[in-house]
Amino acid sequence: MIEFKEVNKVFQDGFHALKDITFKVEEGELLVLIGPSGSGKTTTMRMINRLIEPTKGTITIEGKDISKEDPVKLRRTIGYVIQQIGLLPHMTIKENVSLVPRLMKWKKERYIDKVDELMHMVGLDPEVFGERYPSELSGGQQQRIGVIRALAAEPKIILMDEPFSALDPISREQLQDELVRLQRDIQKTIVFVTHDMDEALKIADRICIMKDGEVVQLDTPENIIRRPANEFVRSFIGEDRLQGSDSISFPKLTKLMVPAVTAGENRRLAESLKMIRSKRVNSLVVVDNQNVFQGIATVWDVQKNYKDEELMLKDIMDSSVVTLQQNDPAEKAFQLVNESVYGFVPVIDEHRKLVGIVTRSSLVEYMVDEIVE
Ligand code: ADP
Ligand code: MG
Repeated sequence: MIEFKEVNKVFQDGFHALKDITFKVEEGELLVLIGPSGSGKTTTMRMINRLIEPTKGTITIEGKDISKEDPVKLRRTIGYVIQQIGLLPHMTIKENVSLVPRLMKWKKERYIDKVDELMHMVGLDPEVFGERYPSELSGGQQQRIGVIRALAAEPKIILMDEPFSALDPISREQLQDELVRLQRDIQKTIVFVTHDMDEALKIADRICIMKDGEVVQLDTPENIIRRPANEFVRSFIGEDRLQGSDSISFPKLTKLMVPAVTAGENRRLAESLKMIRSKRVNSLVVVDNQNVFQGIATVWDVQKNYKDEELMLKDIMDSSVVTLQQNDPAEKAFQLVNESVYGFVPVIDEHRKLVGIVTRSSLVEYMVDEIVE
């Protein structure tokens, strides 16, 4: 439906605000963009209705490159809700809600019906509130009007930039609930910006986590909680949420780990062979002098080549080894270890430094311990 392909934004002052943003929003999906202040959420969103133009990359809606569309027409087909809703103070609520349909020259009966329908949808009786002015409504009521105004012209896409952030916690939760209910009926494609993880988890079909102008992880709320991509996502989700999630039904990956038998990448093969024999292992885990994981060298590869005095471990190791991140869920370890030709999988931290390995026998031992306990 909406597709970003390698979208970059460099502002006039040279600031590189978005770096190769690539993602899709499916039709009828509510996608939440979340990230700390300054991570590029608003910039990303405002590109969809061409309030900001990309420096590089393309954005398509239903396969059509939006840079080739008339921006004004485009904007009329996309609803937009922002924090300061900007209801026009001298227009009544009904006039505010019907603003875009009137600009689009809808017939009067059509937009009057539409306004009534929408006001009922958010629990504001048009007979009671329709002729009032915005200042005669509470903050929560005004924001409901902001939301339905964005829906009035029946856009396929709605953009919402922190629409509930200025509200008190109770109104805020009510509006979140209403949005979820509303979306069940209207099934619009919605891009919703927030910096509040509770809000994201509550309303999103999928969550796109941004940091410093990049997409860090894009997945369903459930998968993000179960498998945070890195330490940043983890801390953004918050430890208490991780604790409370299903992920605790699996052991922590670090509980499954055992220390690796490691060797430096520049070690000669004859020496390496001795090490393999003395430690009684099948393979060495190869690291550089900073303990950054480099690859795996098996006894067979070492044995085959050890007479060549020039060769070092880095010349013969397998450097395209599947690894685990230490925050990965344990279930992933079970899967990868099963698939591994080495019978074990190295575990690395966010700097690719080796933390340990998970082996078939360490998994079996863990299972046995669990059963015994
Ligand atoms: P968010 O909505 O995630 O808080 P924004 O998309 O508003 O972040 O901004 C992303 C970054 O781009 C910020 O560092 C912001 O200061 C910068 N930025 C936004 N607009 C401009 C601009 N017109 N010129 C220069 N920098 C900008
Ligand atoms: Mg913003």
